[in-house]
Amino acid sequence: MSTKNLTVALAGNPNSGKTTIFNNITGARQHVGNYPGVTVERREGFRRYQGKELLLVDLPGTYSLTAHSLDELVARNVIVNEKPDIIVNILDASNLERNLYLAVQLLELERPVVLALNMTDVAEERGLKINDELLGHKLGISVVRMVGNRNKGTDDLLQMVSDAAAANEHQPFNLDYGQEIEAKIKLVTEALEALTEVKYPLRWLAIKLLENDQDVSSAIKLVVGGSKILSLVEQARGELKVVFNDEPELVIAESRYRFVGKVYRQVASANNDLGKTTSDKIDNVLTHRVLGLPIFFGIMWLLFNIVFTVGAYPQEWLEQGITWGGAFLGQNLADGALKSLVVDGIIGGVGSVISFLPNILLLFLGIALLEDTGYMARAAFVVDRVMRAVGLHGKSFIPLLLGFGCSVPAIMGTRTLENPRDRMVTILVAPLMSCSARLPVYTLLTAAFFSPQFAGTVLFSVYVVGIVLAIFMALIFRKFLFPGAAEAFVMEMPPYHLPTIRSIFTHMWERSVLYLKKAGTLILAASILVWFATNYPTNVEYSKDYDQEKTQVEESFSAQVTQNVLIPLHIENPEDIEALSALVGEIAAIHDAKDKEDQALSATAIADKLDELQQAKSVLYPYAMHYYELEQEKQSETEKIDKEQAGEKLAKSYAGQIGKTIEPVIQPLGFDWKIGVSLVSAMAAKEVLVSTLGTIYNVGEVDEDDSTSLQEALAADPAFSPLVAYCLMIFTLIYSPCLAALAVLRRETNSWKWTAFSFCYSTVLAWIITLAVYQVGMMLS
Ligand code: GDP
Ligand code: MG
Repeated sequence: MSTKNLTVALAGNPNSGKTTIFNNITGARQHVGNYPGVTVERREGFRRYQGKELLLVDLPGTYSLTAHSLDELVARNVIVNEKPDIIVNILDASNLERNLYLAVQLLELERPVVLALNMTDVAEERGLKINDELLGHKLGISVVRMVGNRNKGTDDLLQMVSDAAAANEHQPFNLDYGQEIEAKIKLVTEALEALTEVKYPLRWLAIKLLENDQDVSSAIKLVVGGSKILSLVEQARGELKVVFNDEPELVIAESRYRFVGKVYRQVASANNDLGKTTSDKIDNVLTHRVLGLPIFFGIMWLLFNIVFTVGAYPQEWLEQGITWGGAFLGQNLADGALKSLVVDGIIGGVGSVISFLPNILLLFLGIALLEDTGYMARAAFVVDRVMRAVGLHGKSFIPLLLGFGCSVPAIMGTRTLENPRDRMVTILVAPLMSCSARLPVYTLLTAAFFSPQFAGTVLFSVYVVGIVLAIFMALIFRKFLFPGAAEAFVMEMPPYHLPTIRSIFTHMWERSVLYLKKAGTLILAASILVWFATNYPTNVEYSKDYDQEKTQVEESFSAQVTQNVLIPLHIENPEDIEALSALVGEIAAIHDAKDKEDQALSATAIADKLDELQQAKSVLYPYAMHYYELEQEKQSETEKIDKEQAGEKLAKSYAGQIGKTIEPVIQPLGFDWKIGVSLVSAMAAKEVLVSTLGTIYNVGEVDEDDSTSLQEALAADPAFSPLVAYCLMIFTLIYSPCLAALAVLRRETNSWKWTAFSFCYSTVLAWIITLAVYQVGMMLS
């Protein structure tokens, strides 16, 4: 038993520090959070210790093992089915009594358990003294004191785990449930002994059966002879009900609480002289009955303003860099499909998404700060009253808040909800919380159509629309699809603390990697697809002969030059008089200077310069000027024709055809076919809306080498207006969750029906709301 691989499961209440300790031991960098629901999947890590290979499993945090929520079931199944060699129960020492309730249930599973008494610093701060030796003695196991976030006690814990494994024995732990119940437990246990296939602790099974645990009874039902046992249990439960005049499971739970309370009073002594902690004082303000909500909204408003205004600088630099990069490649690649694919498809698409990385990072910085300081849990508490009004549970608010980051963890985070109805409603409305992938869409459109001083407010308002809709839809779902009472709000308030730089960095690092990965895979693929759809087919049948139109422009230009310049000067070519072409060049230079430096050269300054020129070369000047003007005219005419041609080609491409097909549906919302194409492709991931627009506007652009930014291109398109831009933001916010979110939704609800429902209801809702916004907006303007 000495050199062997050991499986060590970390169990404990949410927020007790499991992930912190898991990271300390394995050196991993999982995100730690200050609220339940962060560790929703089990995580594994390795550690070599004294020649032993330890496999650590970080279980979801639970308060009990009654299988009321999916998290509890997951945690319990790992312990019951996989039989880890050692269970490390991590306890929050500052909340010892409630944490012990789980410890007792773990002990009943008859696996070796060691206790890690974490957060001893907080307990001490609160004047709570815990006799850990006595605690270990009472429960018959070893106890180690720890301060997880300062990596204290990790080695002691490892040593203890190692010792416990070496000892390979554990004291049977039997909680005395009182004469009547114990008699029934004995009865059922004996009946269970007759079964051959059972691998679980019999006493535990008997207790679970008496508690009417659905998971366990349905498992027993499948075993040969199981149904006989179930009827025996049914009878026993009936008798107990008569004796206690209450449900047996409540009586059993009560005995456990009583036992835990007794142990707690024996090992802990509180020193109540300390009065209010700093945390309590801050809480008096932040969770104030009246001020709480306004403070919450104030903090959110501030966050979005910072994301926008501070993020705008690095975003602009990145965007410029990418534009330059595109122009550079454009100049150095030979004309053709490859150049177009690289410049329009890849740089136009992926580049436009990458430039929003700074905004995303700032948003996640904000969320990480809110989480790690402990404010997030307060926000849930503050909003609980509002949530309650719509029949949702306060705990639902945490997955919803996670939704600001990404819908995927938000949907997974609903596992902490005990009530399946609450959980379904929360899953359905979570995608309405505006995730970070939608931020690039908002940022692009706001920057293009709203002045900087309103930008933050516009952005904020979109988020508010999402929140209001989520609440509204929850109300409706709750009333019509999932009626039933909401449960009471039980959630601990972790003490406030300064977030560690490491934790914040971990969070942001993970996010950037994820975002860039997405840009490099999904968005790259989507961009190439969109590029293809916008460029092909190439053999378009044009509605008119563009080349001929251009030749006509060319011809009329030559005719006019001959008529008005060459004949009067008696020459055949403008180059025949060197001074003439030189003069044209000079006039062009003066105008170019104006174009380049806009404000620096005022209209009068130009006129002055031209005057000077006229006086110096009074004879040739009128002809040169005329020539210059004709040339300008020719250029702009040709450009117009080119643009029209590019536009027609785009409209007849595959993407154009798709867009045109759906255009009638989205026209009432103020959207044209280009937006239609983008909305279709953005179903893969919402950022793809930006990359698709990037590709479309790059393709539609005539001069490759002198590309304008997407933002300018949008602002210049007459199909857009501030109202259309706002409508597009609203539509993007509401319509179908992205593919990843739908996939997780399917997995978590285990139902195609609800997945399809989520897709349909959100898209219809988006259409209705956007229609209302657009039509009202049109009436007002
Ligand atoms: P989990 O939900 O059990 O995985 O808990 P986490 O590991 O995510 O920790 C929750 C929070 O408590 C994090 O912000 C940690 O930094 C913090 N934390 C962990 N251990 C301690 C400790 O011993 N003392 C204090 N003061 N904070 C801790
Ligand atoms: Mg965790």
